[in-house]
Amino acid sequence: MERTTCCVVGGGPAGMMLGLLLARAGVEVTVLEKHGDFLRDFRGDTVHPTTLQLLDDLGLGPRFAALPQSRITQVQIPVGDGRNYGTVGEFSRLARLGVRHPYIAMVPQWDLLDLLADAGRAEPTLTVRMDTEVTGALHDGLRVVGVRYRTADGTEGELRADLTVACDGRHSVLRAASGLPMTEYEVPIDTWWFRLPRHAHETSEALTPRIGKGRFAVVIPREGYFQIAYLGRKGTDAELRARGLDAFRADVAELIPQFADRMDALESMDEVKHLDVRLNRLRRWNIDGLLCIGDAAHAMSPIGGVGINLAVQDAVATATLLAAPLARGSVSADDLAGVRRRRLLPTLVVQGLQRLMHRAVAAPALAGEGGPPTTILRLTTRFPALRIVPAYIVGVGVRPERAPGFARREPVPVSG
Ligand SMILES: Cc1cc2nc3c(=O)[nH]c(=O)nc-3n(C[C@H](O)[C@H](O)[C@H](O)COP(=O)(O)OP(=O)(O)OC[C@H]3O[C@@H](n4cnc5c(N)ncnc54)[C@H](O)[C@@H]3O)c2cc1C
Repeated sequence: MERTTCCVVGGGPAGMMLGLLLARAGVEVTVLEKHGDFLRDFRGDTVHPTTLQLLDDLGLGPRFAALPQSRITQVQIPVGDGRNYGTVGEFSRLARLGVRHPYIAMVPQWDLLDLLADAGRAEPTLTVRMDTEVTGALHDGLRVVGVRYRTADGTEGELRADLTVACDGRHSVLRAASGLPMTEYEVPIDTWWFRLPRHAHETSEALTPRIGKGRFAVVIPREGYFQIAYLGRKGTDAELRARGLDAFRADVAELIPQFADRMDALESMDEVKHLDVRLNRLRRWNIDGLLCIGDAAHAMSPIGGVGINLAVQDAVATATLLAAPLARGSVSADDLAGVRRRRLLPTLVVQGLQRLMHRAVAAPALAGEGGPPTTILRLTTRFPALRIVPAYIVGVGVRPERAPGFARREPVPVSG
């Protein structure tokens, strides 16, 4: 029978960070990831100041700095006819508060996950098993005592564990099987993702939403191309596809005139991936033997681009609170509930702001009503010092977690 101390289901930001941290505490931990690699687009690329600080504390700062990346230094919103932009947030101002990396690093998520997996290879108590999909929980009475899994070649198996942590995202199979009660919030938007070429001279230091009649887009600069998140009304994927490629190209060109010269690069609607946006939260995050964190506990909207960082912070809190009980072999229900107690406030604040943005900005914009929020622009133009507020909310947030002592390491220089 296969056994480990902690079984982490899902190798996303929450799962990979949790695996690494627990292994550094000497806990036997196995991460099961259903995909064969981390190469998945469309999951967000934003690495925030708190996560950058955490990577420094883990000794991974130099390796992260060596990854190809762009830096976002401002939050801007469109003004007037939507072709000009006003700055409402300035991350550089966070330096005055002692924030070491006062910017958002844009790094493809697979590079961040590869970096964590790579760091994990140095830890003898961490096993990462790719191509291994968890299909259900193992029970002893009501207690979860591990998982059933299936590998890519169809082999089925069981892995027993003292604790199972569901980090398998917003469609978590373990959460669904747990019967934990959930609150689901109405979301007015869905997202479609696609890429367009980025010319060498095109730099961007701002996360700039584009708002047009009934449409909304965020352009993410990546090395060599732009990743575009196109937002539309929920439930309209079939309608959008029925209108066809030419209509979609024209919509995008109207919304982002800068891209009118390259819409031919989008050759088929198959390159436009639909993502069903969810916003929900478990009312309890644990049952006996099972804890849910990250999107498995609270699915995040892409608004504000903070879900990855919240998931990472959940993992840090989980490792900080549970490493010692796991090492002792006695994790109580109260230990597990402590993770939710610690992470509930940041989750409530971020989801509350996302719901406000859905109602006040996204829904009216998609209904073709109202324009961008100009009050905040007027205020931050008149009093530029206020630009630190949106920067703090997005970049640092409530209750940032710091690396636990057992996981800290000296910086590892990059060889070569
Ligand atoms: C359209 C969209 C855009 C977003 N953009 C951003 C952004 O720009 N910035 C940001 O910070 N956040 C963004 N978010 C939110 C962010 O993607 C999530 O909050 C974050 O990825 C959650 O991390 P996680 O580790 O909890 O889960 P996930 O990132 O969902 O990772 C779950 C992992 O579990 C694996 N898995 C799933 N099921 C199983 C199974 N049965 N067995 C084994 N493995 C399994 C998956 O393959 C995956 O690797 C966006 C969300 C959406 C919907």
